Amino acid sequence: MLSLIFNTNPINIHYASFYNRLTNSLCLDFGSPLKLVNISEPIIPNDRYVKLKTRMCGICGTDLGVLGIRTSFPNTFKKRKGPIFLGHEIVAEVTEVGKAVSKFKIGDRVTIGDDKNCETFGLESCVFCRDGLPVLCINKHKREYYENIGAGWSEYFVRHENQLFAVPDDVDDDTAVLMEPVAASLHAVLRSPPGENDNILIIGAGTIGLGIVSAIRSLGIESIKITVLGRHEFQRNEAHKLGADHVVNEISMYDKLAEILDTPILGEGGNQILNKGFNYVYDCISSTTSIDNGLRWLSPRGNLIVVGMSETPKSIDFTLVARRELNILGTHGYAHDSWENVRQHTIARCIDWINNGRLKIDSLLTHKFPLSDYKNAFKVATSHYSANGLKPEPNKTIKVAFDYAL
Ligand SMILES: [Zn+2]
Ligand SMILES: [Zn+2]
Repeated sequence: MLSLIFNTNPINIHYASFYNRLTNSLCLDFGSPLKLVNISEPIIPNDRYVKLKTRMCGICGTDLGVLGIRTSFPNTFKKRKGPIFLGHEIVAEVTEVGKAVSKFKIGDRVTIGDDKNCETFGLESCVFCRDGLPVLCINKHKREYYENIGAGWSEYFVRHENQLFAVPDDVDDDTAVLMEPVAASLHAVLRSPPGENDNILIIGAGTIGLGIVSAIRSLGIESIKITVLGRHEFQRNEAHKLGADHVVNEISMYDKLAEILDTPILGEGGNQILNKGFNYVYDCISSTTSIDNGLRWLSPRGNLIVVGMSETPKSIDFTLVARRELNILGTHGYAHDSWENVRQHTIARCIDWINNGRLKIDSLLTHKFPLSDYKNAFKVATSHYSANGLKPEPNKTIKVAFDYAL
C-alpha cells in the first residue's frame, strides 16, 4: 500500500530542523524525513481491532508541527523506534474485523477518535477513562503501542473498535473528514460553556477557531456576541458566515476591541487592559503574545480557554490573573461532554448535530489532493503561515485533505 511515513532517524530530523529554520518552509525534498513509500498492509493485531481503507484524511496543525520539527517534538522523536504514521482526521471504510469486534461490520463508513483509552491497550480502566475522559488517562506510561498500524496518510490502517464512530449516509466524506477537528472546537466550548449575554473573543481563525464559532452558535443562545481576531481576510469572511458578530485583524486591535465592547482602555505602552473585557477568550494560537493579550482582554472573573499549543509561552504577566480573579482552562482534543443533560462523546455529538443541521461547518474544507501530490498539499496547507497577513493569502486555505478517490 502507499503510505506517507515520517522517519525518525536523527540525521533526517536534524537536517529537516535546520532546513525549516533556514528557509521558513517545510523540508519536503532531498534529506526530508517524510517519504512516500510502498509497504505491506497492516495486520489486525488483536481481536478487538478493525482494518480500514482510508477514504479521506485531513492535514492538521499538529501534523505540520511534527513536519516542522517545532516545540518539544525532537524529544518525542527520540523515543520512537520505527517511523511515525501521521494523519488523524480520517473518514474510512471497514474492510476486515477482528473476531471479538461487536459494533462494526465490513463496509461501514466511520470516522476515528484519536483518544485511546485504557481498554484500547487491554488495561484495567483508570479513573479518567472510566469517566469517559481518556485524554486525561493516568495509565499512559503503562501502554504498549503496536508498531506499523498505519494512519490516515496510508491507504490502510488498523484501529481498536472503541476508536470508531459510524458516519450516517447523509453525511458525505467532505463533511465527515472535518468531524475530528470540529470535535476539538466543540469540546473547547463544552468544557465551560458560555451563557446568556456573554461576550466572546476567539483569537485565531483557522479550522479550530472557525469551528468554535460554529460550536458556540450550535448551543442556540442568541444573546452571545462573538468577535473573531483573524489574520487573513478570507478567514474573517468565513467567521462572519458561520455566525461571528464582529471580525477584526491585528491592526489597532485594542482600539477595535474597546469599541466593540464600548469600554475604555486602561494603562499605557505595553501594559494596557480592556476595562470591561470579554467573558471568554478562546486562544487558538497560544503563543506568548496571544496568551498575554488574552489575559489583558478578559473581564474580571473572565475565562481564558487555552486551545492551541504552538510554543512554550514566556514572560506572561500573571498578576492580572490574581488581581482580576481570572480563570485559565486548558482543553485538548475531545472526550465525553455534557450538554442539555446528555453526556456524549464529542465526536458522536458532532455527527448527530451536523446530521440534524444544528452544527454548520460546510465550507471549512477548501482543498483536496491525492496522496501522491503531498508536496503541493503541504505547500498549500502552510501557504498562510509565512504570508504577510496584511496581503491576501493566495490559496485561501482553511482545511486541506488527502482524497483517496482522486
Ligand atoms: Zn489534529
Ligand atoms: Zn486510562
